[in-house]
Amino acid sequence: DTEHIDPAHLDAYAKKQFPLCMRHLHEVLRTQHHLKHKGRLTYGLFLKGIGLSYEDAMDFWRQEFTKKLDSDKFEKQYAYNIKHTYGKVGNMTNYSPYSCVKIITDSVGPGEHHGCPFKHWDASVVKQKLVEHGIGAEGVTSVMDLVTNGHYQIACTKYFEYVHGQAPSTTINHPNQYFQESINLAK
Ligand code: SF4
Repeated sequence: DTEHIDPAHLDAYAKKQFPLCMRHLHEVLRTQHHLKHKGRLTYGLFLKGIGLSYEDAMDFWRQEFTKKLDSDKFEKQYAYNIKHTYGKVGNMTNYSPYSCVKIITDSVGPGEHHGCPFKHWDASVVKQKLVEHGIGAEGVTSVMDLVTNGHYQIACTKYFEYVHGQAPSTTINHPNQYFQESINLAK
């Protein structure tokens, strides 16, 4: 069973323990107070996977969304989604967080923020993020080579190695694996 995480630590986790895909969704949600359907699903399931409880998830999404719309609208249009993510309504399926392959092969439309940055972003934007996140010139070149050659998960694995100063135990194949490996190193 996953440990429960404290929602007050999400910003810190996003900076240090999240892969680029989830860090981006977190930052967009925090700054724009909105995410489109697939972004909510991708990020919501990831958060469930790292141990955010149903009650905390509801508070977290409500807090952000109601910065831009009234709580009535939130309850009517978005609360159901969160219940669904946690298997509380509908066919009560307990949905699993998405794997890298699923995220990489998903389509990303205008104004959407889910997807794998290594696959879906312009190379120049990825490069800029790597620099912003403190990766040195040599690291940037090695990650970008992998991106150019379409090795997105290996690029993510290298990114992990550069930001942690240590490689994960295996190639990154799931954002929740990335998180867990990062947490293990922080312990
Ligand atoms: Fe996220 Fe996987 Fe892409 Fe890494 S490789 S950014 S974990 S989807």
